[in-house]
Amino acid sequence: MGLLSLGTPLDWHESKKHNEHVRENGITQLINIFRQHASRSNDKFLWGDEVEYMLVDIDSKNKTARLSIDKDYILDDLNDPDKSLHKSVDNNISFHPEYGRFMLESTPASPYNGTCLKDYVYVEENMIVRRKISESELPPHIKPLTLTSFPRMGCNNFTSPPAKAIGPASQSLFLPDEIINRHVRFPTLTANIRKRRGSKVAINLPMYPDVNTKLIDDSIPRDRDLFVSDKEPWLGAAKPGHVYMDSMGFGMGSSCLQITMQAQDISEARYLYDTLAPITPIMLSLSAASPIFKGYLVNQDVRWNVISGAVDDRTFVERDVEPYNGYDLFGGMNVDKRQHLPSPKQSVNKYGDINNLTTKDGKPIQKIPKSRYDSIDNYLNDQNYSTNYFKDEYNDIYSPINEKVYKRLLEQNSDLFDEYTAKHFAHLFIRDPLVLFSERIDQDNSTENDHFENLQSTNWQTLRFKPPALYSSDTDLSSKPGWRVEFRPMEIQLTDFENAAYSNFISLLSKAIIKFKPNLYIPISKIETNMRLAHNVDSVLNEKFWFKSLDQWNLDNSDFVGYDLSWFDRFLNKGNDELGYDEVYVNGYSINGRRRTIEAVNDIDDHGIDERYSINEIINGNDKFPGLIRLVVKVIATDLLPEGSHHCENSDLAKNLTRIQKYLQLISQRASGKVPTTANWLRNSVLRSDFYKRDSKVSEALNYVLVEKAAAITDLRDKDLLIDLLGETTTEYLLNSI
Ligand code: ADP
Ligand code: MG
Ligand code: MG
Ligand code: MG
Ligand code: MG
Ligand code: MG
Repeated sequence: MGLLSLGTPLDWHESKKHNEHVRENGITQLINIFRQHASRSNDKFLWGDEVEYMLVDIDSKNKTARLSIDKDYILDDLNDPDKSLHKSVDNNISFHPEYGRFMLESTPASPYNGTCLKDYVYVEENMIVRRKISESELPPHIKPLTLTSFPRMGCNNFTSPPAKAIGPASQSLFLPDEIINRHVRFPTLTANIRKRRGSKVAINLPMYPDVNTKLIDDSIPRDRDLFVSDKEPWLGAAKPGHVYMDSMGFGMGSSCLQITMQAQDISEARYLYDTLAPITPIMLSLSAASPIFKGYLVNQDVRWNVISGAVDDRTFVERDVEPYNGYDLFGGMNVDKRQHLPSPKQSVNKYGDINNLTTKDGKPIQKIPKSRYDSIDNYLNDQNYSTNYFKDEYNDIYSPINEKVYKRLLEQNSDLFDEYTAKHFAHLFIRDPLVLFSERIDQDNSTENDHFENLQSTNWQTLRFKPPALYSSDTDLSSKPGWRVEFRPMEIQLTDFENAAYSNFISLLSKAIIKFKPNLYIPISKIETNMRLAHNVDSVLNEKFWFKSLDQWNLDNSDFVGYDLSWFDRFLNKGNDELGYDEVYVNGYSINGRRRTIEAVNDIDDHGIDERYSINEIINGNDKFPGLIRLVVKVIATDLLPEGSHHCENSDLAKNLTRIQKYLQLISQRASGKVPTTANWLRNSVLRSDFYKRDSKVSEALNYVLVEKAAAITDLRDKDLLIDLLGETTTEYLLNSI
C-alpha cells in the first residue's frame, strides 16, 4: 500500500469524468520516470517482505474467535512518536494500513541487504519483533495472526464487536462496512468497484463435497430488500453447489506474503520479472493456506481466485457475459438502454474487439479477459540483457491494450520504450482509476507520480514491475529505490519461521537467477493453466505443472552436483543422520494417509521446450537436473559465504547456515509432500474434528478450535501441532533454537 492521500474522494460518477485526465498525466509521469531513471545502473540487490496480519479476538471463556474491528487505533499507536514509533525505529520495522479494519501490514523499515548471509537470518528476527511489538499494543485476548483467510468471515457474528451487514459501500449480504478500513479511500474503492461494474462482485467457490453436504449455500438471505443488488444472487450471481461471496472484503480481507527485490538496472529487472513468472503458480501451490471461506470447506486450497473476483470491476460487456435479468450490459437496471445494444456474444470477435459497441460518448469498448487482480499477461522480454532468451511466441495470450498509450510510448518516446515495455504499461492502462481525491487532480508531472501510481498500484498481479519514483533534479538518485520486481502470489504462513523461509527462498532464488541465468521461459498460456491447477486441493502433490524442460534451462547441470541440502552438512562437517535430511523424494509418497496421485495424471506426449512436472521435481530436482533448490544452495555457497561477503559480519556462521538450511528444508519437504501445506493441515484439522458434521461447514465452535490451534502454532507453544504442520526435524530444531 502506498501512502494514503488525504482529502475528498470522488464518487464514481464524478471520478470517471477524470479517467482520461488521470491516464494521460499518469503516462506523462511514467515517461518522466523513464527519462530520469532508464539509464541508472549498479543498484544493490536490496529486498524486503510484507506480512499481513488479522487481529483476532479469542474468547476462551465463550469459545469464540472473531475478527476484531475496533482495535485499528493500534496503527496510530504504532506510528505515534510518543507511544511505539521509537520501538519501530529502533527495530527497523514499519506498519501500514490494509483494506480490513481488522488488518495490519508490516515490513522492515529499510530493506535487507541481500548480499549478507546474516541478513537472511535477520529476516525472521525482524518478523518476530514486528509481531511482538504489535501484540504489545493490543489487549492480551487480541492476537495478530497470519491466517490467509479467516474461516468464518461473512458468517453470523464473525466480528468483535458485532456489526450488521447493511452497509451502503459494499451493499454486501454478508460483510458489514465496519470491517473496511476507516480511511475514506477504502469504502470509496469498495463502492466505486461496484458502481463501475454495475453490480456487486460475485465469487463462487465449489463446496468441498462431503457425505452430508447440501450443495446449496443456505447462508444467502432470501427476502432482504434493502438494496436493489440484494436480488443479484437470485438473478444468476450465485451458482448452485458453490459458496457465494459478494464483496471486496472477501478477497482484500485475506492476507498474503509479498517480496520486493531491487535489480541492478532495468534490463536485469526485466529478465528477473520474466524468469519469476513461471514460478508464480508453483509458489502459490507450495504456499497454499486457504481451504475455508465463509464457514465452508471449499474444494480448493488458495485465495487467488477469490481476491481476483473480489475487485473485478469489469462490466458485463467487458467480461463478455450475459447481464443478469433486468440489468444492462454496463450494469444497472436500465432496461431501455439495453434494448438498443447488440448482445455482447454476437458483437465480440475472437480477438476481443467489440465491433459495433461504443460507450455513450462514442468510444469503442474492449472485451477484457481478466480482472485487474490477476496473473500477468505479458513477458517484458530480456532482449537488452545478456541472456536474450525471449521469443515472441511466449507472449501467446490475448491481452488488450490502451492503443493511445501504446502509440504514445512507442511512437513518440521510442528512445525510452520498446514494444514490450510499451505493451506492458498500455495493458495496465486499460483500467480506470478507482479512487481520485479532488485535491489531487492537478499534479506537477515533473516531480509527482500519483496518477501513474493510481493505475499501477490497482493492477494487482502475480508480479509487479516497480519503476522508481520521480524526484526533483537535485536528488541523489542512487540513494533512492531503483527498478524493482515484486513477487505477489504467495499465501501467508502461520509462523514467522515459515514466512521467513518462503521470503528467503524467493529472494535467494532471485539472486541465483541473476547469477546463473537459467532460461525458464514457457508460453504465458501455460502459466495460466498452472495458475488454475494451483487452486486444486493438494495441487502440490496431485498436479503436474508446465515448466521449462529440465534439460533446457541453459545451465550446465554438472555445475550443480553436490549442492543439495546436504551441502550444508558437509560444509559444516556435520553428520547427515543428525539432520534427518532426505535426498530426493520419489513419487508415491503418502501424506496423511492420502497417496499422491501424480502417476494418475496423463503424461503429455510433448517433448518440446516445456513439459509437465511435479513440484517435487521442479523444486528438488532429480538425479539429472538441479531443481530450483540447488540453484539457491549454490548461490549461498558461492556468493554469501564470508569470503564472498567480507564486508558483512558473520560471527555466527555455523548457526546462520544451519538456520538457512532449515528454511530450505521446509520448502523442500513441502514440495516433496513430506510435510503438508497449511491448507492440507487446516483441511485435515476440520475433517478430523469432533465438531465437524461432514457437511462441509465450519461452525463457530470449530472455527474457535482452528484459530486456537493456529495461535498455538504461531506462538510455538504446542509441539504436537507443530510436528503435524512442520514435521519432526523442523519442529525439534525450531524449539531447540528458541
Ligand atoms: P507495496 O505495498 O507498494 O508493495 P511496501 O512499501 O508495503 O510497498 O513494501 C515494499 C517492500 O519493499 C518492503 O519490504 C520494503 O522494505 C522493500 N523495499 C524498500 N525499498 C526497497 C528497495 N530499494 N529495494 C528492494 N526492496 C525495497
Ligand atoms: Mg498489503
Ligand atoms: Mg505494502
Ligand atoms: Mg500494497
Ligand atoms: Mg506489496
Ligand atoms: Mg495482466
